[in-house]
Amino acid sequence: SIPLGFFGGIGAASRRGILVKGGNYLEALAKVDTMVFDKTGTLTTGVFEVTGIAPRPGFTGQELLYYAACAESYSTHPLARSILSKYGQNPDPDRMDSHEEIPGRGVRARVDGKQVLCGNRSLLKDHQIDADDVPVSGTSLYVAVDGIYAGRIDLGDALKPDARSAIERLRALGIQNTVLLTGDTEVTARDVAKRLGIGRVHAQLLPQDKVTVLERIMEEKQGANPVAFVGDGINDAAVISRADIGIAMGGIGSDAAIEAADIVIMNDEVGKLGDAVTIARKTRRIVY
Ligand code: ADP
Ligand code: MG
Repeated sequence: SIPLGFFGGIGAASRRGILVKGGNYLEALAKVDTMVFDKTGTLTTGVFEVTGIAPRPGFTGQELLYYAACAESYSTHPLARSILSKYGQNPDPDRMDSHEEIPGRGVRARVDGKQVLCGNRSLLKDHQIDADDVPVSGTSLYVAVDGIYAGRIDLGDALKPDARSAIERLRALGIQNTVLLTGDTEVTARDVAKRLGIGRVHAQLLPQDKVTVLERIMEEKQGANPVAFVGDGINDAAVISRADIGIAMGGIGSDAAIEAADIVIMNDEVGKLGDAVTIARKTRRIVY
C-alpha cells in the first residue's frame, strides 16, 4: 500500500502544474538518478524555422515548398507545422488524394497526381531515391516528386529557454545520468547535447528504437534505480509507457502521450522536472 503522505505530495505537485497519477510514481521519482529525454518539443521548442531551401535543377524553391506543404498538410508533426507556416497558406485539399505519415521518417502523399515524399534521407532511401546532399547542421527535410529527388529544406529549432538550467538543476539534485534520444541526425543531436551538458546521445532512432534503447538503459541499472523518460509525445507514447516513470510535456504533447504518462508537466517548462523531483524527495522525508 502507498503511504498516505504521498497524496499530500500529489497535491503540492498539482498546484505547480504537475499532474502525478499515483503516489507510487512520486516514490519512484525520489530515487531516480537517470533521466532520458526526447529532443524535439521536449528540450527544444519544437517550433522550427526554415533556414534554407535548396531545390535541385528542374525545380524552383517555390515548387519545392509547395510540394512539401501539400504533403505535410495533414500532419501534426512540428516539422509539418513549420513548413506550412513558411508556405503561408493552407494548400487546397482537392490537390491531394492520399496522405500517409511514416513515424520517424516523414510523409508520403499524392499531390496533383504525383507521388511526393517529404522526410529524412532514410525515407527517400526506403524508396530507392538517393538524396546525396549532406547539410552542415540542423534538421533537413528531403523532398522527392515522382521518384526524383527535388531538393532539401533546412530547418532549425531553438532550445527551450530554460532547458540548460533545468538540466543543471537536475544534476545538482543528483540526477547524474542524462541521455538524449532522437530521430534527428547525429550532428544535430550532439550539438544539442553539448549545449545542454547531456552526457549520452542516441540519434537517428525510429520510435520503436527508442523503446529498445530505453530498455537497454533500464537493464544497465539492473533495477537499482528507476529510469525516467521525458517526452513531448509526438511519436513517443510507447517509450513513455515503457519507462519506469514516463513523463509527458503536456503543452503541445499528444493526448496519447498524456494518457500513457505517469506524470504530466501541464505546460512546456522543463524546469518543472526539478520541482517534481524536489516535491518527491520532500514528500518522502515526511512519510518515513
Ligand atoms: P524526435 O525524436 O526528435 O522527437 P521524431 O521521432 O518526431 O523526432 O521524428 C524524427 C525524424 O523523422 C525527424 O527529425 C524527421 O526527419 C522525420 N519526420 C518525422 N515526422 C515527419 C514529418 N511529418 N515530416 C517530415 N519528417 C518527419
Ligand atoms: Mg519528439
